[in-house]
Amino acid sequence: AKAAGGARWALYDADRDRRELARYALSAAIPAALERGEFYLDYQPLTSLRDGRVVGVEALVRWRHPELGVLRPDSFIGLAEETGLIVPLGGWVLAEACRQAGSWSPAVGAAPFVSVNLAVRQVRRPGLVQEVRGLLRSTGLPPERLQLEITESTMMSTAEEPVRALRTLADLGVRIAIDDFGTGYCNLAYLRDLPVTELKVAGQFVAGLRAPESRADERILASLVSLAHALDLTVTAEGVETAGQADRLRAIGCDAAQGWHFGRPDSAERLLARLH
Ligand code: C2E
Ligand code: CA
Ligand code: CA
Repeated sequence: AKAAGGARWALYDADRDRRELARYALSAAIPAALERGEFYLDYQPLTSLRDGRVVGVEALVRWRHPELGVLRPDSFIGLAEETGLIVPLGGWVLAEACRQAGSWSPAVGAAPFVSVNLAVRQVRRPGLVQEVRGLLRSTGLPPERLQLEITESTMMSTAEEPVRALRTLADLGVRIAIDDFGTGYCNLAYLRDLPVTELKVAGQFVAGLRAPESRADERILASLVSLAHALDLTVTAEGVETAGQADRLRAIGCDAAQGWHFGRPDSAERLLARLH
């Protein structure tokens, strides 16, 4: 029994080593993949709950890997953040999103803003303001049509200097959203002092609206929305999968929604075709 236990340990370790190795190999392949153009962006609509208009789109990165097929961000973003390769990768995402959004003509009403996820390392980089300024200039994208999504934990772990950079960007007119709001330890009083314009409420809260006995969830969400509005923040609910959830969110006063009920992530061409 003892020998078998030992064998199991050896096997477990070998498996784990192989998994780690595969993870690192994938991460190490990011720079070459960037050069070969293997990354691309899908976009998911953010829809106004008031009039059903698409007010914005979130850029979500995908990797068309030559051997592994299309990889979702969850399989490579975490490691790219650990190794620092998120800086060139995230830089490419930001540039590509600005480039594409800059070319969207406002055929019907206002063109949607593009919302880009920023990792903590990107926010902490000293050159962020210059990078964004340069991209807005070279792509012609108006600052109001760029939104930067920063997670709660990034916001809370970020020192004074980066917060100042975000404030500079906000002063230019760039929108700053807190992503996955409600999953960390951010509080609304603290938000008053941050250069934030929008809260993206995490899908878990919205999932709670599914059950008929979810009065408490609904009341929590309602008070969150009214507090956000008191602070001049707009609220987008994430992970909205059903018409029932959308109805309840609308009744609560939530501004916009994102989720499968309103549209899955898709190519810019197909998304724009739907808008026109
Ligand atoms: P996120 O920022 O919370 O993005 C939303 C994720 O939820 C997307 O997954 C989207 O496909 C998924 N989703 C949208 N609607 C629904 C719904 O109704 N139900 C459910 N169950 N899921 C929904 P995706 O594209 O796999 O992205 C996963 C995460 O990867 C993102 O979560 C974001 O944290 C990260 N990510 C994606 N692109 C980038 C990027 O360019 N840079 C950085 N730093 N992170 C990125
Ligand atoms: Ca996001
Ligand atoms: Ca999110």
